[in-house]
Amino acid sequence: MKVLVAVKRVVDYNVKVRVKSDGTGVDLANVKMSMNPFDEIAVEEAVRLKEKGVVTEVVAVSCGVAQCQETLRTAMAIGADRGILVETDAELQPLAVAKVLKALVDKEQPALVILGKQAIDDDCNQTGQMLAALADLPQATFASKVEVADGTATVTREVDGGLETLKLSLPAVVTTDLRLNEPRYVTLPNIMKAKKKPLETVKPADLGVDVAPRIKTLSVAEPAKRSAGIKVPDVATLVAKLKTEAKVI
Ligand code: AMP
Repeated sequence: MKVLVAVKRVVDYNVKVRVKSDGTGVDLANVKMSMNPFDEIAVEEAVRLKEKGVVTEVVAVSCGVAQCQETLRTAMAIGADRGILVETDAELQPLAVAKVLKALVDKEQPALVILGKQAIDDDCNQTGQMLAALADLPQATFASKVEVADGTATVTREVDGGLETLKLSLPAVVTTDLRLNEPRYVTLPNIMKAKKKPLETVKPADLGVDVAPRIKTLSVAEPAKRSAGIKVPDVATLVAKLKTEAKVI
């Protein structure tokens, strides 16, 4: 059984992003980039399924610039068996990535596709759902537990009222939530081993996919600066201010 895992190269979660002065986007010059944290969880889950003997091959896919190779090497250092880079310099929106992944699902025929629930750069939370629709596959989003046996995946999801458990027939699409697992540290020997694993590069056109953006970003702006807080002398003043100034009680 094969698992396809989508890994996106994003601005590292520790970096404080800066908006470009012309408001056209986020400044990516000299910024540390890493694998999207939810995708690390996705790779870890796929590798754990392989370690349990449920899965035989873990294939990592990344779409974007040539440097996404580094993201794929990290996935292979965690334990993915091979990588596919769908290389393009074009701006990629979730629909384009979902179309690329659909083409790869057709080609690779995985039993399970695992994606992060959202990319921390665009915060779209769309790609997994779009892929499931395009490929006509069952989906379970925001997974906090995944069990695979006998051609089905049993997925626990964290929903507002508690936990929901779904049973999906494979092949299926699963997206990861934060509590699914804690990804392992990547060790130096595994980084060295990952360098020798196969990495194939294709272009979106080779897969017959047009990745032209369908949505235009009009402007990107920093959030408004928060004004400084004040100290109140006692509870009575606090309650009065909440009533008359903040008008929240
Ligand atoms: P999004 O819908 O953009 O929030 O992304 C959700 C998930 O889709 C991510 O966590 C990744 O697993 C996958 N994904 C999105 N963009 C890419 C990309 N360029 N390359 C590989 N995977 C991606």
